[in-house]
Amino acid sequence: MVQERLPRFNSVKIAYCTCPPKYNVNPYLGRCQHGCLYCYAVKFPSFQGPLKPRFNLAENISRMAAKTRPKLPVMLSDTTDPYQPAEARYKITRRCLEALIRQGFPILIVTKSDLVTRDLDLLSQGRVVVSITVTSLDERFSRLMEPGAPPPFRRLKALRRLAAEGLTVTARIDPIIPGLNDNPEDLEHLVRKLKDCGVRHVTASTLKPVRGFFRRLERVNPKLAERLKEAYREAVNIVGYNYLPEEERLKTVETVRRLVLAEGMSFASCRENFSRLNTAICDGTGYLTPQRQLLNSP
Ligand code: SF4
Repeated sequence: MVQERLPRFNSVKIAYCTCPPKYNVNPYLGRCQHGCLYCYAVKFPSFQGPLKPRFNLAENISRMAAKTRPKLPVMLSDTTDPYQPAEARYKITRRCLEALIRQGFPILIVTKSDLVTRDLDLLSQGRVVVSITVTSLDERFSRLMEPGAPPPFRRLKALRRLAAEGLTVTARIDPIIPGLNDNPEDLEHLVRKLKDCGVRHVTASTLKPVRGFFRRLERVNPKLAERLKEAYREAVNIVGYNYLPEEERLKTVETVRRLVLAEGMSFASCRENFSRLNTAICDGTGYLTPQRQLLNSP
């Protein structure tokens, strides 16, 4: 059956997702080339196996966008990175964005790649929020956990450049992994750096390992895998995601919140059941509709 309307983002309420309604476009199926060890997407059959660029997607999006009222934002992407290395060659994300911006859709981009700056000319023509995930300033962390993604300094540079061009930029500190990137001093440096780059909002989330995470980690760092298994010994499984005990997650999220608010940025947690701590809509789309942006005053 031919799909007529843009696909809706599937908000997993049971896993505490508080995302507002939006559309979602994944230009690439198969395993994302960033190859993050903690990736949640590997849980879904469409995002396993070799990369599958969706070569005809832009034409389909163009047709669907013409039949959909541009009221809700479109996110690229919830499951694989829209700016993974293949995008440099195939430009599928770019062509989808051209169609969506032409039709007037507000856009939320979520990526770990500075390749997004290639499309500055296009992004600056639309209503766009770009969210770049920066999990740590420590390149060793990034090399181990996100081996195919650009190093943190390039992501920061991209944030700075986008902000300097007038785009609204937000950052995700996601996932925060116990004993690895949750040190309060390191988080403070990271949050300050994000502010310095022009970030307006930070979304934080603790690691919720899915099936296969410890096996993947064991292959590259057996000791660390053991340590983390121990840290997650009392985790609770919610629809395939392993949640640390609530008080541990709360401590981490509150630490980041305090640091972020001290720097004058808005804050939200993602899939933690702590939405009471959010001062803005969790995914940053509030900045596409300024009157909805703030929730609770700090
Ligand atoms: S960038 Fe995102 S989708 Fe790609 S491997 Fe990393 S976590 Fe998964």
